[in-house]
Amino acid sequence: MKKYALIGRNIGYSFSALVHQEIATGAEIELEYTIMSIEPEGFVAAINRLKSGFDGFNITKPYKSDILPYLYKNNSVTGAVNTVDIKNNELIGYNTDGTGFLKSLVYHNIKVDGDVLILGAGGAARTIAYELDKIADVFIYNRTTEKAKSIIDDLKLKNTYVADFDKLSPKLVINATTLGYNHEMSLPDYVKTDKLETVYDTIYNPKVTPIIDWANKREIRAVNGLAMLFFQALDAQKIWNGINLSQSQILEILKNLEARI
Ligand code: NAP
Repeated sequence: MKKYALIGRNIGYSFSALVHQEIATGAEIELEYTIMSIEPEGFVAAINRLKSGFDGFNITKPYKSDILPYLYKNNSVTGAVNTVDIKNNELIGYNTDGTGFLKSLVYHNIKVDGDVLILGAGGAARTIAYELDKIADVFIYNRTTEKAKSIIDDLKLKNTYVADFDKLSPKLVINATTLGYNHEMSLPDYVKTDKLETVYDTIYNPKVTPIIDWANKREIRAVNGLAMLFFQALDAQKIWNGINLSQSQILEILKNLEARI
């Protein structure tokens, strides 16, 4: 049986194993998927273990860039890798967060037709900014401003800026920080919300984070990161196993996951 894993730090909350098993069931294949929560000092040993015993793995916070030196080939253009395929004992990097995110927008029927504010400047924010820069004016706010600037410079983004809250009135706010796992509010209270129509939290566990709760109470549309998780996993399975599910299978699995999670 093929073996896959998710490697990250403090990721006991992850539903990746469940999502990959659901996709595998839909595609009528069998696989094993393990969650590996690793401290930084154990990262290299974990990569070696994965290389020798697994067929591929996903990577999450905070290791999406740390994997780069270990790749034989990198197909991700954003400097963040979330999917690794293992072929002939070599690691090949990909990023399916961006495509997963875009597909989740379509699934949720979210139209990007105004200013977008991305909260955070880590691996997820980087990938989301790269995709949205092609279709909208994007503003990044991060605790560490330098990291927001780096995203814009590294990826040579044309329509993305460091957020200036005096001028900005976003229509869509995306939380791509880790704030929300432990009841922390990710939306700074000085963000203007008069034009705000949709809040998108990339976090999916808990299902309702403080920013989603805040939006619900104001009748602002709010979605969590479950559909993004599903579509990035589906794209990883396309890479690993050539899985292609029909639209009705996709909707059925997603509805099941939404009911269970
Ligand atoms: P990351 O690279 O570790 O980035 C973490 C981000 O959170 C950074 O911008 C960091 O700011 C910010 N942050 C952390 N603690 C903070 C605090 N106390 N106050 C303010 N900002 C803080 O992580 P990532 O991989 O980008 O993931 C970010 C989020 O996206 C996570 O919640 C992850 O679960 C989610 N995600 C979801 C999916 C999905 O499929 N649904 C996929 C990918 C990621 P600094 O730069 O200042 O440290």
